[in-house]
Amino acid sequence: MPAGPFASSVGVGRAEPEWAALNKVTGVCGDFARRISPPRVPRVQSSPSTPFNSTPDVYELHPDIIASYGTALSGAVLAERCSAELGMTSVIIDKRDHIGGNCYDYVTEDGIRASKYGAHLFHTQHARVWEYVQRFSEWIPFDHRVKGRVPVPGAGPAGDKKLVPIPPTQETVNALFDAGVRDEDAMARWYESERVAPAHGGEPANGEEAALSRVGPRLYEVIFKHYTKKQWDKYPEELDASVLMRLPCRTSTDDRYFGDAWQALPARGYTRLFENMLLDDPNVTIRLDCDFFAHREKGTLPKHKLLVYTGQIDSYYAALGMPKLEYRSLRFEEEFVDAPDGGFFQEAMVVNYPSADVPFTRVVEYKHTPNQPNKIKKGAVRGSLIAREYSCADGEPYYPVPNPENRALYEKYAALAAKEPGVAFVGRLASYKYFNMDQAILNALEMFDNLKETGTLAPKRRPEDFGPGDGPK
Ligand code: UDP
Repeated sequence: MPAGPFASSVGVGRAEPEWAALNKVTGVCGDFARRISPPRVPRVQSSPSTPFNSTPDVYELHPDIIASYGTALSGAVLAERCSAELGMTSVIIDKRDHIGGNCYDYVTEDGIRASKYGAHLFHTQHARVWEYVQRFSEWIPFDHRVKGRVPVPGAGPAGDKKLVPIPPTQETVNALFDAGVRDEDAMARWYESERVAPAHGGEPANGEEAALSRVGPRLYEVIFKHYTKKQWDKYPEELDASVLMRLPCRTSTDDRYFGDAWQALPARGYTRLFENMLLDDPNVTIRLDCDFFAHREKGTLPKHKLLVYTGQIDSYYAALGMPKLEYRSLRFEEEFVDAPDGGFFQEAMVVNYPSADVPFTRVVEYKHTPNQPNKIKKGAVRGSLIAREYSCADGEPYYPVPNPENRALYEKYAALAAKEPGVAFVGRLASYKYFNMDQAILNALEMFDNLKETGTLAPKRRPEDFGPGDGPK
């Protein structure tokens, strides 16, 4: 594989040796080494006049579980576990024409593995999750590292920009502020001299206070403030402190985005992982192009004992006419760059653009990942696919928007959900929680534990208990 501009002596997609050594994934590991399956997901087109995807077999099935919008992580984990350990049957329906939810990836005609819904970087500190995901895929170590094209302070709105590590490290503050920091102690002192504690003397009450009390106003201005506005259409002061706490602030030279013990990518992509989880299982029936609400309205859902609902919680209760919860969506502008210098468009897989003068938040270049198909690994593709990521209000919901108003509204929906017999609300949209992939998996695994232990499919911990803030990186 062409080394690319961001390879280290450890390899493609790896950090410098000192930091790469912290990743417990050291080589290719996990199952399904030789399994090469053709795409086998039945793509059944639904017609409005026929019930449930024109497939009477499904309509007539009486599964234990229906998972609505269920081929993403939460629904897939629950269907897999319930089948493997309890022999339960599931019908998974999804309104999209593919499995895998937002993790869905595919190989383009140019031979590049790309993600339809933005970059997904797997990382976890939970041994249980790491053990679980290795059953369905081989994994390749990947130390995700992000660079930001950050305005040099004082250079004006569209002035000079430097490419620096994000989250901030010693290199970041030296490049931007000429801070002359050479070791961890000096970096700690630098943060100390910059930090501004909240005037009220308590814990940071919002994103701005969180950022100022961690990095001070100068880094806040160039890295956090405008990026956050672009991402959420809210300034940090309008968001929970937890949003800004997702990003660590390093005193070291560790330029990895995540600090978790296990960091890797599925060797044949996420879609293959979902295929391996679900497609060979006779207890699991998948129907795509199926809209849960359309079938609920027409009364054409299969009879079932339990519903696993993974859609937006407020959509479930739309008939009640309560205010809607706020979600953030993403739009990807893809471009195939024919002949970039050295085969790559940019220096890293993800380059952030935190300044206000650039309309997108980041640019993803897929070719940097070590789980690319052979054509890329052999250097046979000169061009490169990039995706500029824009954040927007309309479109597929990606992120709940964590702030006090939305949380209060969510609590009202959660109170209704708690009283809903035979329905489990699971995952990012149904729990209105900014879960990372591994947290979504852990939540589903623990819900399954509860099903076994108590007969109820309920979470073991509250969404906010998945770690400080909304799950730091
Ligand atoms: N953030 C920022 N500047 C950056 C990267 C992140 O201000 O260059 C802030 C921003 O508010 C963002 C949050 O940190 O929403 C969490 O970033 P993360 O990369 O975790 O977002 P995700 O990858 O989940 O979209």
